[in-house]
Amino acid sequence: ASYKRIAEVDDKVKAFLTLDEETARNYAKQLDEALPERVEKGLLYGLPIGIKDNIITKGLRTTCASKILGNFEPVHDATAMGKIRSSEAIMIGKLNMDEFAMGSSTENSSFFRTRNPWNLDHVPGGSSGGSAASVAAGEVLFSLGSDTGGSIRQPASYCGVVGLKPTYGRVSRFGLVAFASSLDQIGPITRSVEDNAYLLQVISGYDHMDSTSANVDVPDYLSSLTGDIQGLKVAVPKEYLAEGVNEDVKNKILDALKVLEGLGATWEEVSLPHSKYAVATYYLLASSEASANLARFDGVRYGVRSDNGANLIEMYKESRSAGFGDEVKRRIMLGTFALSSGYYDAYYKKAQQVRTLIKKDFDDVLEKFDVIIGPTAPTTAFKIGEQVDDPLTMYANDILTIPVNLAGVPAISVPCGLSNGLPVGLQIIGKHFDESTVYRVAHAFE
Ligand code: GLN
Repeated sequence: ASYKRIAEVDDKVKAFLTLDEETARNYAKQLDEALPERVEKGLLYGLPIGIKDNIITKGLRTTCASKILGNFEPVHDATAMGKIRSSEAIMIGKLNMDEFAMGSSTENSSFFRTRNPWNLDHVPGGSSGGSAASVAAGEVLFSLGSDTGGSIRQPASYCGVVGLKPTYGRVSRFGLVAFASSLDQIGPITRSVEDNAYLLQVISGYDHMDSTSANVDVPDYLSSLTGDIQGLKVAVPKEYLAEGVNEDVKNKILDALKVLEGLGATWEEVSLPHSKYAVATYYLLASSEASANLARFDGVRYGVRSDNGANLIEMYKESRSAGFGDEVKRRIMLGTFALSSGYYDAYYKKAQQVRTLIKKDFDDVLEKFDVIIGPTAPTTAFKIGEQVDDPLTMYANDILTIPVNLAGVPAISVPCGLSNGLPVGLQIIGKHFDESTVYRVAHAFE
């Protein structure tokens, strides 16, 4: 059914970079044949899943939507991918994204643009645009994305699906091609909150292969979907409903708060005063980390090598110049500048200090409240081509998601209505490692 749907719609949506049909069909057959004798089944037994193309898959091309990895076939699976396989889900294929997860519209893919299934003239959001569009278009039941500054939640919001960025450290990053290691997290994109909880259950947990993976218990997420939010305390940051947030989006969020009140929750306006520095802080830190992480793509260790260089240094230069797209080059240059001696203290170190203040804003509010609620993005999905030549406007799409990555806390985007025929997303932010409460609220609202 999944491949049939892909054949019907993917020439319009263009969510998939690579399909793995033969392997998937063989695996499905194998599961079917074993069925009569099976006592225990995997948690995701037989369910079709798509994987963002920056999560490595053994023997299957993994490109990060970059020409530099156009021919890269990983020799092992990412930890999250291995867990998906153990759960007996069926991997359908690899999903389009902004190159190396840098972008907010999937227009930075080196291969092609993915379109929003709700309106094909609009972007699906990014960088996990393929992951969100494939679920919204019914091509797969669910998908994995990655979120460094909003890349799961913003496309989920634009495509009217559910997307969760787990707490930093909840899901192993081993085998997720690194963009900004202190911010990156893998997370689930699904049609419902319940599906989301199933998928997080499978991919969560400590992994000795990732030194930042947290050795904390993984609760039973499904048991938190009680529908009961009586007495729940919600904080609504005034910065999240301020100027720059579309009126219609704002009204949908206020409507959602009324629904939550009707379910017995209370809400109060609060302030996250350092939010205004979040975008600048993020682009300094994320670009700095990216400039170091992307140094490994040198034409030798991975992927495509240029034949033009006369010596080693020229070969590096030629391979990287031809292999990376404009946005990736922009980030590498920004990051290299911010880390260079003479500028390090003024930019990188200062940004780290501001990051601490932003995290403290969240800690202070979450000490008194159960969750923080606001929009996921200031607008609905914009038109293809509208922002692609204006990096600063593009960066502003993540103004409401970026602070969450800087603080390391979990957050979900759930659909909360339509504006001019395009979905609006409600963002629910929780305490560190308290995905359960985030799910409980999202599920009650849904
Ligand atoms: N849009 C943001 C960026 O371009 C966030 C991307 C992400 O979360 N991977 O960096």
